[in-house]
Amino acid sequence: MRQVEPPERAHVLLIEDDETIGRHLDASLRSHGYHTTWCRTGTSGLTQAQTDPPDVVLLDLGLPDTDGIDIARELRTHQDDLLLIILTARSGDIDVIAGLDAGADDYLVKPFALTVLLARLRAHLRRRPAASAHQPLLRLGDLTVDLSARRCLLAGRELGLRLKEFDLLAALARSAGAAVSREDLMSEVWDENWFGPTKTLDVTLASLRRRLHEAAAAEPRPVTLPHITTLRGHGYRLDLTPPPDAATGTP
Ligand code: CA
Repeated sequence: MRQVEPPERAHVLLIEDDETIGRHLDASLRSHGYHTTWCRTGTSGLTQAQTDPPDVVLLDLGLPDTDGIDIARELRTHQDDLLLIILTARSGDIDVIAGLDAGADDYLVKPFALTVLLARLRAHLRRRPAASAHQPLLRLGDLTVDLSARRCLLAGRELGLRLKEFDLLAALARSAGAAVSREDLMSEVWDENWFGPTKTLDVTLASLRRRLHEAAAAEPRPVTLPHITTLRGHGYRLDLTPPPDAATGTP
């Protein structure tokens, strides 16, 4: 079968709480040229979609915090040009109708063949040139991360971040508001098949924090930086506003 690449590097937001399915879909989509962000709850998926509007959302309905139908409705209200596909085990006609009425463009019943999902994505994206040409520009307080140009600016002034510092900031910023595990950061920023020590992650994160704070201190006016919180035993989370006890995130 002829493999067709996605029209651009379309950004797919995956909202799925099942680890096995999520991991499989995330890896498969990446290997087919999509840029992916994976959120495990409805709330973090909504926050992510508002921070960095994706081209496509693949939405599970049975989520731990909210029902996917409500998330579909919210997503559709905020982003009209979104391609929204529901992936769920709920197969009744009434469920399919509810999903489509809530704003979904398509509906796939689990278990489905990955090749079918990929074919549907290509078919939908072919008809959406504007949506797939989306240029991700993340605004985090006074910090702007331009993913396509690989530039990071604080209050309009460019920060000369090192390669991995930029990649790490970009990985955290794409999932702003959601916890990102050390394993996911290692595989996204360093190597897809990383199983070794992760000391390099701590070192790079410390230098990223230092550079951001030094740049902020050098600004003539007070600036708002995103806050990177350390989640002991798990990973990190980037927040747009500092948590109430901002001391937790300092190195
Ligand atoms: Ca589920």
